[in-house]
Parts: sequence; structure tokens; C-alpha cells
Amino acid sequence: MGGVTVTCGATLLTAGLLVAGGCVPTERSDDAGETITTAGDTGDTGDTGEDGGSAPLGPSCAQVPVVHVVYFVEADETFREETRADLEAFAFHFQEYWFTQLGATFYLNDPVVDVILAEHEAAWYVETPDDVHEDERWYRLGNVMTEVYGVLDIDWFDPMHRVLSYPVARYDGRVGANFGGGWMDGDDLACLTGANGGVTWPYEGGVDAHCVGHPAHEFGHVLGLDHQGPPTDCMQYGFYNNSGGAGMCSFSPDNVAQILETQANDGWLEAMPGDRCVAP
Ligand SMILES: [Zn+2]
Repeated sequence: MGGVTVTCGATLLTAGLLVAGGCVPTERSDDAGETITTAGDTGDTGDTGEDGGSAPLGPSCAQVPVVHVVYFVEADETFREETRADLEAFAFHFQEYWFTQLGATFYLNDPVVDVILAEHEAAWYVETPDDVHEDERWYRLGNVMTEVYGVLDIDWFDPMHRVLSYPVARYDGRVGANFGGGWMDGDDLACLTGANGGVTWPYEGGVDAHCVGHPAHEFGHVLGLDHQGPPTDCMQYGFYNNSGGAGMCSFSPDNVAQILETQANDGWLEAMPGDRCVAP
């Protein structure tokens, strides 16, 4: 496993724009995990706002950085309300998990789950050149990202928006984190709904992994980590079910410290479990 070089990471591009030559992220190893390369200036928008009395109000979604959990339903797949509800429950669990690791966590969006009924059938995302990657292995990542960011009006490495996106279709080995988002696979989604025996397979024929540990690994990349830490860390092999741990992986003190010290994360970890912004 290794890192990734993003040669144009500091450039904010509007979703949908073609990436000019010389500005192509080059991935190697097991996923597209990147180290955040933008300054990530969040300005003074980190104010958590007031409590609003008895109503569970949060800050405006226009004023705080938020994480979008996306339910990306390909055109030949079926939206299921139960799946959306499971994904919403997972979003709060994931938010709380990070609080247990960092002592701080992020705001969820309003709505907590952004449902996107996608334009194309699942195979299109896999097979169509994405104008982002040279390696066809990452076409789906680029194509899904472009559509998700277009629908949500998010830029690459957007300083106010990060994404954890779940498609419905399964396509092993094409999970990654890049451009400010974690891009999961269909069996990761199925895992969260209790299907597949409650496991997910990052690689076809490979070792099964923990439903929450796998996105924790990818979101660790979004927070700026590479494959680092002790072998059982979430950023190494800890999210695999054969890693020696019986359950969920954790982040080492050094990795936690790096997340908290990373400038691009300034303003991102000022919420409590259960906090979400309020749509303007
Ligand atoms: Zn990785």
C-alpha cells in the first residue's frame, strides 16, 4: 500500500470541467487516497452558533463545513427508503465514532443523507473515461465524483464540503478517497444494511472488512492521513477482519494528533455527536 501523488490538488476546479494535461492525479497502490494538499481556508465559519432554546437547531449549512453522506442510486438500481434510513443511522454512528477517536467531530448535512438518483446505469460509470484519471480502474471514482459534486454544487477539495458517497452497484477494488471525498462500493452499502453477513470486500476474492472500519480508513484519507501508523491502525490493516482485532479499528495517537493539527481540518471538527446543520 502506498500513497498518492496529486499533481494539481491545490487547484480548485468546478465539477464537470475537464482536467487539462499536466493536471492529472496519479494513483498507485490500493486506492486513490490522497493527502490533503489545499490550504483549506475555512475562514471564520467555524462558529457553532447558539443553541436556539429547546429546539434542536444547528448552525446554517451555509456557515459551517459539513460532511455529506451520499446515497448514489445508479439508473438501473432501485432506491429503497429502508436503505436510506440505514445510511442515515450509519451517518450518525460514523459521526460519533470520530468523536470517540478525536474528541471532536464534524457536522452532518441537512438532509443527513443526500439521495442522488443518478443519470447513468452502473456500467457507464465503470466503463466511461472520466477525464480525470488515466487508469481505467478509477473511472468510476471520477465519474461518480463529477456527478455528485455537480448535483451538490461542490468543488474539488471544497473547503466547506466533504463527502462520503455510497453507490448501489458493487465493483470491488475501486474504492478510494480523493478530491475531498471518500468513494465507497456497493457492498459497503449492503454491509451497512445488514446484508452480506455484515461484511464488505474491498477486493474481489480478498479479505473481508468491517462495515465502518472501511469508510473510516477512506475518510482518514479525506482528513489528510496516508497509510501510516501501527499495523492495526485503521489507516493500515486494522479495518480488515483478519487483522487480529475482533471489531472496529481505531486511530493511533500519532494519527489523531496529525488530524487535529492539519491546517485543512481547521473548522471541521467543532460539532458534537448528533449535530447537523440547518438548511438555509
Ligand atoms: Zn487507503
